[in-house]
Amino acid sequence: MRKKSILDLSIDELKEQLEDLKEPSYRAQQIFSWLYKKRMYSFDDMRNLPAPLRERLKTVYNITPLRLSRHLKSKDKSEKFVFELQDDRFIETVLIPSKKRNTVCLSTQVGCRYGCIYCASGLKGFVRDLRPSEITAQVLFLQREFNIHITNIVLMGMGEPLDNFLSVSKAIGIMNSPEAMGIAARKITVSTCGIVPGIEKVSRLGLQVNLSISLHAGDDRLRSRLMPINKRYPLKLLTSACEDYFKKTNRRITLEYVLVKDLNDSLRDANGLSAIARRLKAQVNIIPYSRVASLEFDPPLQKDVKAFKTNLQRKGVNVTVRESKGSDISAACGQLALP
Ligand code: SF4
Repeated sequence: MRKKSILDLSIDELKEQLEDLKEPSYRAQQIFSWLYKKRMYSFDDMRNLPAPLRERLKTVYNITPLRLSRHLKSKDKSEKFVFELQDDRFIETVLIPSKKRNTVCLSTQVGCRYGCIYCASGLKGFVRDLRPSEITAQVLFLQREFNIHITNIVLMGMGEPLDNFLSVSKAIGIMNSPEAMGIAARKITVSTCGIVPGIEKVSRLGLQVNLSISLHAGDDRLRSRLMPINKRYPLKLLTSACEDYFKKTNRRITLEYVLVKDLNDSLRDANGLSAIARRLKAQVNIIPYSRVASLEFDPPLQKDVKAFKTNLQRKGVNVTVRESKGSDISAACGQLALP
């Protein structure tokens, strides 16, 4: 039987397991410290645990569920890590270093069921949800094997995070916990294509995580064409869920807008986007599209990116243009795909 990863357990779950073994609950803190602070991959190295407990843990659990399959470096300094899971599936993780921070973009599912037409992740459909350990281990691997100080987490890789809410919320709890990774909630961003009930669940988490909506269109007609989820949760429902989220959490939402040539880069599109952004008091990130070999879209011209941005600014919208990193290693937004 395949062993379960111990990284799947929250500290309270680990305490319960230890209680069943008649071990004191402080052992859970010791084990968490070995796993997440000292980043040990072997129970034998956990020297302050009694030998019988180490043996017992070894028979029930393994530690990391990931194996590095490929590591690619972009000329813009971003890096892509392709990980093999225990069932021989693959996921991709992207590291985006900058002067002040090291951001890691995590996958939350193998494949994706939402089929946004500009995105490679959904091309082969949905395979399965990731377990919490398979999400947190992406961070742990970079910290441990490459000694990278991860400052920010974005759940924007392969998969729709709010379609795998249980695993994602548990992974966020572990990443945020001072006993584990201790990454501040404000440094963690959850992205969604617009799963309305999931947005409500995020607001109930009681954590100060950031919410980012992949909007990509300013009206229902275009958005439904680009993102089939919009037929189920059209803009009226999506924007009112975002308003509720803002009221409950007082956290400003970010709207992500991948700008594609001749698709969503007109003045009319800018007007639709600015109306939504103003209503939500949201920050807008414009991301010029990066080409995906199997798709027929084109990146926007630089002058059109500038004009689009100016149109939004004239309407009083807070807007930033973010160059998508790692396009030469297929690590940019929308480029992560199943091999
Ligand atoms: S953009 Fe997100 S939700 Fe849409 S297909 Fe890609 S991974 Fe799935």
